[in-house]
Amino acid sequence: MILSILKETAEHEHRVALSPDVAAQLITKDLEILIQKDAGLASNFLDSKYEEAGAKVASSKDELLSKTDILVTVQIPPEEDLKKLKKGAVLISFIWALQNPDLITLLKDLGITALGMDAIPRISRAQNMDALSSMSSIAGYKASLIAANELDKYFPMMMTAAGTIPPSKALILGAGVAGLQAIATCRKLGAVVEAFDVRPAVKEQVESLGAKFIEVKLSDEETETKGGYAKELTEDDKLKQRELIHQHAKKSDVIITTALIPGRPAPVLITKEMVADMKAGSVIVDLAAENGGNCEHTKAGTTQIVNEVKIIGPINLPSQLANHASILYAKNILALLNLLLKDGAPDFNFEDEILLNTTMTHNGEIISPLIKNN
Ligand code: NAD
Repeated sequence: MILSILKETAEHEHRVALSPDVAAQLITKDLEILIQKDAGLASNFLDSKYEEAGAKVASSKDELLSKTDILVTVQIPPEEDLKKLKKGAVLISFIWALQNPDLITLLKDLGITALGMDAIPRISRAQNMDALSSMSSIAGYKASLIAANELDKYFPMMMTAAGTIPPSKALILGAGVAGLQAIATCRKLGAVVEAFDVRPAVKEQVESLGAKFIEVKLSDEETETKGGYAKELTEDDKLKQRELIHQHAKKSDVIITTALIPGRPAPVLITKEMVADMKAGSVIVDLAAENGGNCEHTKAGTTQIVNEVKIIGPINLPSQLANHASILYAKNILALLNLLLKDGAPDFNFEDEILLNTTMTHNGEIISPLIKNN
């Protein structure tokens, strides 16, 4: 079996799907590893490191694609590359099936078996494969560093001969994986941190990180799905939430927003009116920028300055920490392959809920209930 990695071509993408360490581990499982020249260069893994691990550098991209049995990537490869894969080849990548219905049709028609790293169920047994968590955690960390860098104030309290500087105030909206990491990082940098989430279950996690949980008395509507994700709030609850966030936004130096609702545009939590009331020099880092943004002013990939407030809408933050992001992603892939491979070949046991949910297409059919039930 030949498992291959490509040099990622998407804009802003510096990660690679396999680290030399994981390549070495897969070789012990009787897989041959083929890499495209310079596949890991942007994340500082040189070809020589893969070769030391036992991998081979393909003479051309076409040779690699035509020989591949299992292709692992971070972003979906371009259509022309998918068309060069063998019928029955396996693709493991972030796929975002619901947002990409045409891609799913193409993969099905080409007879490619496609596994989506974004569809790994959030269950304990799958924690080591959970690429969404690995990447969200990096995004939360990096967003805090961006905020600290852009703010013209110290994060920690500073006692100097010239006087004492009070600590900055950070407000984190959405306390999922990215939000919790942002809380932890802002706390480590010395800021005073408050956080809010519609799921009351996160209160304890927020407090255990040393932040204050802002509570809103919402209606009795359930705010969480069975899978642990947030639901969209009622119009009444949205109003209550906005009033409270408005009060806290006025006092904040930094706001990091991370709120997402699966299958829906990101909820608007910071309105134009709130920005108009914020302190000059405050910084908003909107991690939901690529999903429409949690702030009304956000434009993905840009920094807007409104009323002397900086509103930053970063794109693909995990890619800015490409080396560690690739190491973690590769470990997530390895954990999935450990489940998938039996005696060195893929065994699609759809009795297993991880393989069932993650496999988008197989043998020309749609498999995952994620697509089927949508
Ligand atoms: P996410 O990226 O989908 O959303 C980020 C956060 O935004 C969530 O905490 C959500 O509740 C919050 N949010 C949504 N709308 C909001 C609003 N209007 N105001 C404020 N906050 C709002 O979340 P995620 O980080 O992917 O985590 C999703 C779920 O998966 C959580 O329950 C998490 O605990 C769970 N999880 C489980 C595991 C595991 O057991 N293996 C691993 C990771 C995450």
